[in-house]
Amino acid sequence: MKIDILTLFPEAFAPLKISILARAEESGLLEINLINIRDFSKDKHKKCDDYPFGGGAGMLMTVQPLFDAINSVYNKDAKIIFPSPIGKTFTAKKSEELSKYDHLIFVCGHYEGVDERIFELFDIEQISIGDYVLTGGELPSMVIIDSLARFVDGVISKESLESESFSNGLLEYPQYTRPQTFQGLSVPEVLVSGNHQEVEKWRKEQSLKRTKELRSDLLED
Ligand code: SAM
Repeated sequence: MKIDILTLFPEAFAPLKISILARAEESGLLEINLINIRDFSKDKHKKCDDYPFGGGAGMLMTVQPLFDAINSVYNKDAKIIFPSPIGKTFTAKKSEELSKYDHLIFVCGHYEGVDERIFELFDIEQISIGDYVLTGGELPSMVIIDSLARFVDGVISKESLESESFSNGLLEYPQYTRPQTFQGLSVPEVLVSGNHQEVEKWRKEQSLKRTKELRSDLLED
């Protein structure tokens, strides 16, 4: 999968270059390109923001550098995403859906946002990562990319995906590793019983119990 990220702050994306995503890039499963929107500004000072017409607080990203930056990577099969508080809230289902594209383009807003005309010039999906406002689209883009990359074939094992929270509409069961006893606390007996059927049964029960306690809204869905 190819992911182009258009941003005024390419240096913000260092977290995508570590751990699982770094390995996915090394093995060719992912290609992540950082494109600086400022490089496309036709302003003599490379300005990419201006005051909003009609007045109001803050600055808006201007449409020309955004338009040219998108065009530099665009093809008709690419899906363009603009993280934004006004979009539908991101979910595991959306994440899996996005992972099926061969080419994603993320456009990162900053300041007060972007000139609205960019949404008339391109087919862009706006996605929110929650009902709060961040200073820019860089963190939301990384959240979405980190999550969808896990669904790209080969990035992590299928087994890991299957038992993960939300995969079957429930939260994941509690997990333990060595030592078997720590500070007087022992792991549940069933997990060291060697009885795989009983382990599976216990995990299902625990998943349901946790979901009821912590996220009963998931059960309503
Ligand atoms: N004026 C905008 C509004 O009230 O909806 C908020 C602009 S915000 C300060 C700047 C940029 O951060 C947005 O254009 C968007 O790209 C990003 N952003 C902020 N909060 C976000 C969220 N909850 N989800 C996704 N992107 C967000």
